[in-house]
Amino acid sequence: MDIPLSLAGTFGEIRSDHYHTGIDIRTDGKEGLTVRAVAKGYISRIVVSPYGYGNAVYITHADGYVTLYGHLSRFNRAITNYVKSKQYAQEKYQQDINVPPGQFNVNQGDTIAFSGSTGAAEGPHLHFEIRDAKNEDPINPLLAGYKVVDNLAPIIKGIALYPLNDSSSINGSHQPLYIKAGKINNRYVIAANTTIHAYGSIGVGISCYDIAEGTDNRNGPYIKILKDNNDTIYYSRMDELSFATMRFINGHIDYAAMHSRIDTIEYSFLQDNDKLNIYKKIVNRGRINCKISKNHAMEYVISDYNGNTSTLAFTILGEEKKPPIYHDTAKYLAIANWREPFNYEDKGIKIQIPAGALFNTMHFHYSMDTLRSNTEISPIYNIQNENTPLAINYTLMIKPKPDLSDSIMKKAIVVRLEGDRKVSIGGTWSNGYMTVHPKNFGRYAIMLDIYRPVIKPVNIFKGKDMAHDKEIAFEVSDNLSGVKYFRGTVDGKWILMEFNPKNNYVYYTFDEHVGKGAHHLRLVVSDEVGNTSVYTTEFTR
Ligand SMILES: [Zn+2]
Repeated sequence: MDIPLSLAGTFGEIRSDHYHTGIDIRTDGKEGLTVRAVAKGYISRIVVSPYGYGNAVYITHADGYVTLYGHLSRFNRAITNYVKSKQYAQEKYQQDINVPPGQFNVNQGDTIAFSGSTGAAEGPHLHFEIRDAKNEDPINPLLAGYKVVDNLAPIIKGIALYPLNDSSSINGSHQPLYIKAGKINNRYVIAANTTIHAYGSIGVGISCYDIAEGTDNRNGPYIKILKDNNDTIYYSRMDELSFATMRFINGHIDYAAMHSRIDTIEYSFLQDNDKLNIYKKIVNRGRINCKISKNHAMEYVISDYNGNTSTLAFTILGEEKKPPIYHDTAKYLAIANWREPFNYEDKGIKIQIPAGALFNTMHFHYSMDTLRSNTEISPIYNIQNENTPLAINYTLMIKPKPDLSDSIMKKAIVVRLEGDRKVSIGGTWSNGYMTVHPKNFGRYAIMLDIYRPVIKPVNIFKGKDMAHDKEIAFEVSDNLSGVKYFRGTVDGKWILMEFNPKNNYVYYTFDEHVGKGAHHLRLVVSDEVGNTSVYTTEFTR
C-alpha cells in the first residue's frame, strides 16, 4: 500500500474459535486504496465471497511463499474482467478460482486490487497474510521485515489463577481467582490488598493487549513469558500457526470467561490435550506445584514485535496447612475420557464425541426441556455446557416427535439456541434422526422453517426509469434457516447479483449486460430448506 504501515490487528491475535492468521493493515477508515504485490510472482487463486476474507487475491512467489490480500473492494481491471467472464459463464456470483501459472504474472509494486471491507471485515482494512506454499500454514508477516510504528509497551489488564485438580486450591477455594492489574512506576502490579495462597497443582493466565501510536486498536502481543522464581516455565511466541490445530485455541483460553464476555484470558499452562505450535519453552506443562509454606515469586514478561515490554510481578504464597479435597457434587451421567471416543445414547438422542475433541477428561451430562412453542418438533437438549470448549466437532443426533411425514421433515433443521437467538445449523434427516456436527456444546432442538424468505425492493418499482441508477438493490431476509440461494435475471438472462450479509442486500451493478430500453426483472430467493419467493417487475433504462 502507499501509506505507512499501521495495524488494526496482529498475527496470532485471539479471535473467536481461531487465531488471526495475518496482519490487518489500517486504511485510514477508507476503501479503495491501492493494493500492490509485495514481490514478484503469479496470481494463483482468486476468491469472491460475501464471507471470510471476502474478495481475495493469492500470489505464489518463487521463494516458496504465498501472499494473501483480503477484504478487497475490487480487483484491477484485468482480474475483474477475468472473474466476471467466469461468473457469467457459470451463472454464479461466488467464485474460488485456482488460476494457472502464467495467466497473471506480477512484479513487486504492481497494482492488483483496491482495499475494502468485504467478507467478515468489521470495517475497512487490508488483511495481509503470508503462507508457506508447502503446507499452507500461516507465518507472521512481520518476520519478513515490514516496519510498524509502535513504541508503546503492551497493557496488562489482569491475571487469573486456576486450581487444576481436586486436591489443589486457591485462597481456600476451588474456583478460579481473577485479579486486576495496575501500573506503578512503569511496572505492573496486582491490585493492592490481594494475597494469593495456593496449594497443589495450579495454573496462571493473563489478560493483556498491545497498543500503538495513532490507533485505538487492541492488538495481540508477540511474546508471553511466565517466570517462577526466575526460571522461565512458559514461553510463547507468535511466529507461525497451523490451520490443522487452530481450534486448540479454545483450550488455551479461559473459554467460559470469553464466552460470557467477561475477559479474554490466555492460559500460561497446557491442558491435557494441546496441539498448538506456539510454545517455545514449557516446563511441567506450565503447571505450578504449590507446597506447604513454599512461596513462588512469579513474573510475566509481555512484549510486542518491536520489543516494547511490560512486566508484572506477583507472589504465590504456599498454604500453611493442607486444604480439604474438593468434591464435585454436580450430577453427571458418564465420564468422557479425552483420549477415547465417547458415545452416549438415550431415548431421543445420540451423542458421539471423537477422541481428542475434549481438552480434558470430563463428567458428561445433558438435560432436556419440554416443548415450548409449535415451531419446535423435539425437546430442547442442553448438551454438557456451552462454556465447555471443543477442539473437534462432535456428532449430535436428535429424534423429532413421532409420526411426522417426510414432507414435513424436509422443512426441519437443527437450531442452536444462544440466549434468545436461534442459529440454524442445518442437519440431515435419516433413519429417524436429524444429524448435525456442532462445534459447540449448548442447547439444541429441531425446528420447522415453514416461511418463505422476504424480498424487499430498495430502489426499484414497477415501470421505474433507472437511467440514472447505478444499481438495483433488494433487501432479503429469512426467519429461521437463512437465505441460501438467489438468482436474478433480466429479460430471461442471468445477471451478476452480489450479496452483502451485513445489510442483507442482494444487488446488481449496471454494466454492459443491461442496455437501454424496457426490461423485465425476476429475482428468486430460497432458504436452506427450499422455501422460495419470487419478485418480478418491469423497468426502463
Ligand atoms: Zn484480518
